[in-house]
Amino acid sequence: MKEIRIERTKAPKTKPADQSKLGFGNYYTDHMFLMNYDKGQGWHDPRIVPYGPIELDPAAMCLHYGQEVFEGLKAYRSPGGGILLFRPDKNMARLNSSNERLCIPLIDEEFAVEAIRQLVLIDEDWIPNAEGTSLYIRPFIFAVDAHVGVHPANHLLFCIILSPVGAYYPEGLNPVKIYVEQSYVRAVKGGIGFAKTGGNYAASLKAQDEADKAGYTQVLWLDGVERKYIEEVGTMNVFFIIDGEVITPVLQGSILSGITRMSCIDILRSKGMKVTQRLISIDEVAKAAEEGRLNEAFGSGTAAVISPIGQLKWGDKIMEINGGKIGPVSQELYDTLTGIQWGKIPDKFGWTVKVK
Ligand SMILES: *Cc1c(COP(=O)(O)O)cnc(C)c1O
Repeated sequence: MKEIRIERTKAPKTKPADQSKLGFGNYYTDHMFLMNYDKGQGWHDPRIVPYGPIELDPAAMCLHYGQEVFEGLKAYRSPGGGILLFRPDKNMARLNSSNERLCIPLIDEEFAVEAIRQLVLIDEDWIPNAEGTSLYIRPFIFAVDAHVGVHPANHLLFCIILSPVGAYYPEGLNPVKIYVEQSYVRAVKGGIGFAKTGGNYAASLKAQDEADKAGYTQVLWLDGVERKYIEEVGTMNVFFIIDGEVITPVLQGSILSGITRMSCIDILRSKGMKVTQRLISIDEVAKAAEEGRLNEAFGSGTAAVISPIGQLKWGDKIMEINGGKIGPVSQELYDTLTGIQWGKIPDKFGWTVKVK
């Protein structure tokens, strides 16, 4: 395996004193990982250096055409003072799947996990330890060729930064209100919806902004062709429980394959629940809600883990779910996932990776 050159900072920053005010994405640690790609040379010069600004040519292609991919995972402080990652191999596999779609040269997945491990260890004092807090890890790759012309880049930068983040739900899991989006779409089959790439988020901002102004937390995305089948909720995967059956939209190219999503499916099945991945239309959900058969609905993703949905607004229709309260399956999933991630319950799936 390639050796990672390490240059430690001579000016460590002051860490945020109050862990209850960390929020999400507000603070960055003392170091970052960098590695260059140059055509003919491949990926080279992996290094951990002091965190700081990156110099870019104004013609750098990422700024103009969005050739960029990213990942998101967390390091968790376990009760004995250890450090755990949750399924980092899956994140790096997904990064390569995004790379492939965006014409970005593939990375060595095992090496990338090792880079994360070393970076987290160097900045381990930044990992908060209050209940529900963690260290968010953001790997990303972008095109740096100075060339205003559309073609796959020959020069790229792979970067990993770390951010101590607060508990997502300092006051417990409160169900959110969701706006069913009927005008804008996030992604279409054949597009880039399954890749974690900036363009998908640029496409989602306007809808999110309008939903926010109307008093809703997130939008529920429908498919881009028929505007009928449910895809995702905000930047999370989505699950519905109808008549005791857990249903999540099947992955057909426009939906991101969440690691929380796949873990939820495995946990639910291990508890003997029926989980189905299939097309699910907004009409089906509305009908189930009307007939009192819609038991629960929730989003899943690394940041929030489980985000229960208390209300859906679809045109003039308002659907209340489980009386606006978190349901038993959502709560149990949240408890199981967070229990495994923070090393508080046995990890019978073998998902966690020890950093130390
Ligand atoms: C990252 C992301 C998810 C959730 O994926 P996890 O691996 O569970 O964090 C879902 N949808 C979108 C659009 C995302 O960007």
